[in-house]
Amino acid sequence: MPIDRAGFLKATSAAFFTGGLDVWATPGEIAPARMRVLICADRGDDVPQAADGDMFFFANRRYRGTPSIVTLPDGRSGVVATVDVENYLYGVLPIEASPRWPPAALAAQAIVARTFALARRNFARPYDVVGSQSDQRFGGIEAEFPGTNVAVDATRGAVLTFAGVNASVFYAACCGGHTADAAAIWGHTALPYLRGVADPYCAAAPDYRWQRSVPLERVQAALAAHVSEPITGFAIGPGDAGGRPLSLDVLAGAQRATLSTAEFRTVLGTDVVRSTWIRSLRLEPPQVTIEGAGRGHGVGFCQWGANAMGAAGTPAADILAFYFPGTRIAMVDTGGS
Ligand SMILES: [Zn+2]
Repeated sequence: MPIDRAGFLKATSAAFFTGGLDVWATPGEIAPARMRVLICADRGDDVPQAADGDMFFFANRRYRGTPSIVTLPDGRSGVVATVDVENYLYGVLPIEASPRWPPAALAAQAIVARTFALARRNFARPYDVVGSQSDQRFGGIEAEFPGTNVAVDATRGAVLTFAGVNASVFYAACCGGHTADAAAIWGHTALPYLRGVADPYCAAAPDYRWQRSVPLERVQAALAAHVSEPITGFAIGPGDAGGRPLSLDVLAGAQRATLSTAEFRTVLGTDVVRSTWIRSLRLEPPQVTIEGAGRGHGVGFCQWGANAMGAAGTPAADILAFYFPGTRIAMVDTGGS
């Protein structure tokens, strides 16, 4: 059936014409199983095209669910896919994980990703999650693989809870040998299952130990907001219980600026500074040499470690109990069969 553009816009008008309101939906208006995924934050003139079945086309990709055009708080026009959480996970797992992972690691990742997503439902804005790195990368139907769909189906409705409420979970590629203490590194609420654990399983990861050399000129420019004099050295600050430093000092003559390791990582670029676990920082003009451990923020589930555990025959529930001690797996109704 040809797409009726006017009819389509009318069908999405509820979202189209309510831009600017603080409350976009009340819990009763959106089924518990539905997630609103922001798939584009600046659509220009692009309009999603509804198709047969519970799917649509946008920007040459197919997505499950129902599209809406929304006005974002900054005034831009975005596109939201309202999709069952299980169908959303089909488009997350192959990108955030890999179809090549052992089934137990994929099942554990599916439970973490589902728990993460459901915790982000937010009725005060026109979407729950962003379909990119800032929440979870989401590729729609084009990204799906049978192996990752199986992991989603096998864990349907399973989430992690602590003391009877949904857990606050995070994941990153490789912790470097000890997961981070979320309260120490982010100022996150102190939760017993996010204090960090010693992880002997991720040592085979390519970024388990890493080194990068960066031109001093570039480091000086990146830190211009913090020091104006030529950099003369660095000092790594105190660490969390696992030894991951929380801050570092940049020395520039008489100037001394303290940055959190997370901020240092952001200003220099997360591809260069592979993780927040900076083990040494040496001024070697004309370069600065940085050594570190792991890839990503290091909080919560370690993907490389989970892979190794899964490959060694550890069940998904045991992998999750290792990275989130004291949590339990509970089932929530995410609809469908
Ligand atoms: Zn690890």
